[in-house]
Amino acid sequence: MTSPAPVVLVFLDPSFPDGRLADAAKPQLMVTDQGATRGDGIFETMLAVDGSVRKMQAHLNRLGGSAEALDLVIPDQDAWRRAIDTALSEHLHQNPATDSSGDERVVKLVVTRGVEGSDGPTAWVQVSPAGSLGRRQRETGLDVILLERGYDSEVGERAPWLLLGAKTLSYAVNMAALRYARKQGADDVIFVSSDGRVLEGPTSTVLLAHVEKSDDGTRIKRLVTPQLDSGILAGTSQGALFGAARAAGWELGYGPLEPQDLLDADAVWLISSVRLLAPVNRIDGKEIGTPALQKELTAELSTLFAGID
Ligand code: PLP
Repeated sequence: MTSPAPVVLVFLDPSFPDGRLADAAKPQLMVTDQGATRGDGIFETMLAVDGSVRKMQAHLNRLGGSAEALDLVIPDQDAWRRAIDTALSEHLHQNPATDSSGDERVVKLVVTRGVEGSDGPTAWVQVSPAGSLGRRQRETGLDVILLERGYDSEVGERAPWLLLGAKTLSYAVNMAALRYARKQGADDVIFVSSDGRVLEGPTSTVLLAHVEKSDDGTRIKRLVTPQLDSGILAGTSQGALFGAARAAGWELGYGPLEPQDLLDADAVWLISSVRLLAPVNRIDGKEIGTPALQKELTAELSTLFAGID
């Protein structure tokens, strides 16, 4: 039997300004917590590299946006920063880094609507080691299938109660889509809307690239992602990488994208905070781009992404 990964848990608690350390191996939640009974809550998943959380401000801002979408009142950003610091320091103390550089830990922020009948949310920070899956996917790439999401690309605007742009705890459908893909022999999924638009992965943002020669022979590299207002989660990784790519001379674009655009691209990736940039090798069994160009573009964008704090 493998022993469980070491997890450090810190609750945000007004009586403990730096957060309240709790034993992650013991029960800590009430069974009537609405996070457990209804999946009613929000979360963020961040990556800490060598003890420092990447893109922390972007994650805290998105947590605030998700809270607003769900009418949840959550602790302020300073309280989160202190609790994150407590949890990460404790995790590093209990599990010192074995790599001299590139040590990766996952820092998860969770807020639920709290215990039924109470008036406050339940909020915590959880730190654990990063698993090997993300690293493997970055290195070997992914086979992806396209799956229907069952919504059109404008429903997010018409029906805000669907919470499509928020990072809610209701991820059972996303996890079911991943299991479905794995049963088909694939690694991951790209959702497509009922009006035929490329949306996102169950836990990732879709990116594609085109490389062209201009009339004067200069190379033009264009990085494209689906429209952010098409009922998808705005990725903090996509946002950060777009900033770095623009500074490095890439052209940027925001959909709309159709499945054929993915098949015609020079490279396609799924990107997210923990796995980082994972190249898509095949979509529905069809090869994407050419291996040499895909490798070159992946290396260039991965270096740009690694340079972001
Ligand atoms: N889209 C969905 C549905 C996600 O769950 C995630 C992350 O888990 C992303 C996109 C990528 O977001 P980020 O880059 O902020 O990790």
